[in-house]
Amino acid sequence: MKLYQLTLQEAKKGLEQGEFTSEELVSSVFERIEETDSDIKAFVTLTKEKALEKAREIDKKRKNGEKVGPLAGIPVAIKDNMCTEEVLTTCSSKILENYVPPYNATVVNKLSEAGAIMVGKTNMDEFAMGSSTENSAFYTTKNPWDLKKVPGGSSGGSSASVATAQVPLALGSDTGGSIRQPASFCGVVGMKPTYGRVSRYGLVAFASSLDQIGPFTRTVADTAEVLDVISGNDPMDSTSVDLEVPKHTDYLDKDISELKIGLPKEYFELVDDEVRTLVNSGIDKLRDDGSEFSEVSLPTTEQALNAYYLIAPAEASSNLARYDGVRYGNRFATSDLKTMYTESRKEGLGDEVKRRIMLGTYALSAGYHDALYLKALKVRSLIKEEFDKVFSECDVLIAPTTPTPSFEEGANDDDPLTMYKNDICTAPINLAGLPAVSIPCGFIEGLPIGIQVIGKPFDEGTVIQVADRLEKLLQVTPKTPQQGSNS
Ligand code: GLN
Repeated sequence: MKLYQLTLQEAKKGLEQGEFTSEELVSSVFERIEETDSDIKAFVTLTKEKALEKAREIDKKRKNGEKVGPLAGIPVAIKDNMCTEEVLTTCSSKILENYVPPYNATVVNKLSEAGAIMVGKTNMDEFAMGSSTENSAFYTTKNPWDLKKVPGGSSGGSSASVATAQVPLALGSDTGGSIRQPASFCGVVGMKPTYGRVSRYGLVAFASSLDQIGPFTRTVADTAEVLDVISGNDPMDSTSVDLEVPKHTDYLDKDISELKIGLPKEYFELVDDEVRTLVNSGIDKLRDDGSEFSEVSLPTTEQALNAYYLIAPAEASSNLARYDGVRYGNRFATSDLKTMYTESRKEGLGDEVKRRIMLGTYALSAGYHDALYLKALKVRSLIKEEFDKVFSECDVLIAPTTPTPSFEEGANDDDPLTMYKNDICTAPINLAGLPAVSIPCGFIEGLPIGIQVIGKPFDEGTVIQVADRLEKLLQVTPKTPQQGSNS
């Protein structure tokens, strides 16, 4: 077994017991990246020298018996929309192609303080808008299970890198599904915490009322370890909540038979037959294990996508106004002020980003604000109320993550609406601000597919508890295409 194949917990144990050094682990990870990334294209920037330097520092501390953090020596990849001091942060956009932030996002600092070692920044759909990484201004990341297929998005680089065993841990961001959908497509664990649980400071804003950072790992236990590190109040983010953070690892290896589990019927109706069958077979395993289920209804689910695709673009149109050639990133013309604004946006931003800006500006315009944006907010309130009601009777919900497995690159090129349907089982959860995790459920014609556990606000613990049990019952193996890019 190669060091890069280890899960986070296995690597942590090996480092603690002195079986290998951080430098050896980080070197192994770079070997793996060098061997596979010309095919996978998960990374846009690598930080090898800095990473090896930090690994040596940690090894020295350990050798001297100094205290090291809970993730000391663990390699991590960061989605390229999180600010990293002195390291390019492009959002996979031409307009930020040369942007080097002067500061770290809070999550990046937290991981670093815990001893994790950043190995690079991962590819994504431009400004996190998309479901396939095809909207990256640089290149499309490949699905490691089938190189002709997409890895999902927008955090496709992060999910593909964990699935390829290039890293045991990557961070992504999830506004309408961008952690859970690529986790489902790549066969890894991907968790979106409750809105407010993890600081968004230093995350380049897409839709501020929906964006949330979370981890990709290969096991639920690894995700629990990471949540322990990245959660918590941050004075730099006024939407981060000042609530005590439980120890998520305490929720592992626990019985779940006392928990009430709901199955939201609309989610099962909205997915392909094969996905439904597979997810139901996963649920049967829990049933055999002694869990009880009740069918619940969230009638506004079908309207959620419409609401999401008004609210997210509306917020994006405002957030992205700052990219004008003056304050951030590239400037594409200098003749006169207006030309500079328009050319910089025309050249610097891709088609999908422009589509969202236009859609959002239209939805917020004086004549249409009430009919579109306000109506979408009302739908959002209904969705939240429906979840509240269901959660007064259930502890968690289980549902599919995506309506289909991964699709071919280019399949939706002329059809943004079909692309948007990818988010049908994930976006409602962002609208309600809830925590949810996708874990691998099995395979459909060789492609992985996820199953989703959704929880009450700030109850990531119970979500972890159920997902951990489910993972153990499902025994989806192999967990990664570890022998390389689908060879
Ligand atoms: N696919 C969704 C979109 O394009 C979700 C994106 C996200 O979660 N960042 O908006």
